[in-house]
Amino acid sequence: MSYDKVEVPEDGKPITLADEETGELDVPANPIVPIIHGDGIGTDVGPAAQKVLDAAAEATGRSIAWMRVYAGGSARDKYGENLPDDTVSAIREHRVAIKGPLTTPVGAGFRSLNVALRQTLDLFANVRPTYYIDGVPSPVKNPEEMDMITFRENTEDVYAGIEWEAGTDGAEQVREFLEEDMDIADVIHDGPVGIGVKPISEFGSKRLIREAFDYALANDRDSVTLVHKGNIMKFTEAAFRDWGYELADEEYGDELITEDELWEEHDGEQPDGTVVVKDRIADNMLQQQLTRTADYEVIATMNLNGDYLSDAAGAQIGGLGIAPGINRGHGRCLAEPVHGSAPKYAGEDKVNPTAMILSGREMLHYLGWTDAADLVRDAVEETIGSGTVTYDLHRQIEGGEKVATSEFADAVVETIDELS
Ligand code: NAP
Repeated sequence: MSYDKVEVPEDGKPITLADEETGELDVPANPIVPIIHGDGIGTDVGPAAQKVLDAAAEATGRSIAWMRVYAGGSARDKYGENLPDDTVSAIREHRVAIKGPLTTPVGAGFRSLNVALRQTLDLFANVRPTYYIDGVPSPVKNPEEMDMITFRENTEDVYAGIEWEAGTDGAEQVREFLEEDMDIADVIHDGPVGIGVKPISEFGSKRLIREAFDYALANDRDSVTLVHKGNIMKFTEAAFRDWGYELADEEYGDELITEDELWEEHDGEQPDGTVVVKDRIADNMLQQQLTRTADYEVIATMNLNGDYLSDAAGAQIGGLGIAPGINRGHGRCLAEPVHGSAPKYAGEDKVNPTAMILSGREMLHYLGWTDAADLVRDAVEETIGSGTVTYDLHRQIEGGEKVATSEFADAVVETIDELS
């Protein structure tokens, strides 16, 4: 494919699909990988992560041929549009990509480009691992108890973008339909009203929950918790929970047991090789995550709950500066940190690039480069452990050396060199 709005690297080979059914990839030693640096602090953390990932690839006998693609402010500046088709096509064609944060205006203006990318590329699982790194200051007493991975459905829920602004014909037509055709009386207040729709499908729920179950089984995790607000939203959030249990029953047999079965049939002694499936109501989950952290290992939930829970989990292990994520579809992924574009720090070479670096680590895992991924984790841990930290962590510890974004990345690269 040829592109006009993409910086095509001179070398590098494309990643291809090796197995249509499983989504397994054929990854050359010098893959072409599209990268969006992003808006705001993306201009700081994007290049920092690139440097570290290059070092890890090189240390393990590989290289990454970066393909700069544009979205958000940089795309508007260069091409006069928010999300060029070439950006989406390049990520679709090259299958594995990484992005920094993109700014989304609140209220008016364009819809989230992040959500558009996830939906257009059908990256249905937003996977956010939250684990403690030694030496990171945390607002909780036992941050080391947190070792949780959140699987957040990425394509539906209130993020589907089906909503009508108060005072528009659309909003009034939907009101009329609800009141007159669907007999929903005395619920919507008189006067201007904004209306949104929350679709939760069996297909979307089951394919997300399947990812969480498969991950838990493959990684010897004890439990998967389905998080929902099904006491209030019975046909969306409760349906998600019910489809989760149904899936466990239909596709997994004895490998998955429910919490009731654990107590009724096994006296609370979990049989080896099994995963317990449980569910929690979302508001309770937010406090359980704080008070009984170690009881939760793998979370499967819908889009909005997943966003809230993973930000809160990130805070428990030291803040958004270190919380990574990756969006995964069938044979395709787009790594991105949990945090946003923090515009007040844009271009100051100040913020913590760890979240973006560790998102890159998730990408390396997706490529099957486990040795390079481990090297990145070890080097980040060692750098932070030595007290070399950016402002966000420095303000919470005694001593240590406060460094800039780029200096932190250089320190991680140096540590990669020492470790390899
Ligand atoms: P944010 O950009 O995540 O920043 C909130 C605060 O989190 C910052 O002020 C800072 O706290 C801390 N923080 C975030 N990233 C950090 C880093 N790398 N290092 C150290 N501290 C970091 O959230 P926001 O201000 O609500 O959102 C700004 C924009 O980002 C919005 O347009 C939003 O839509 C967008 N956004 C994009 C994505 C995405 O691209 N996936 C995700 C979320 C939000 P302190 O000031 O206390 O140090």
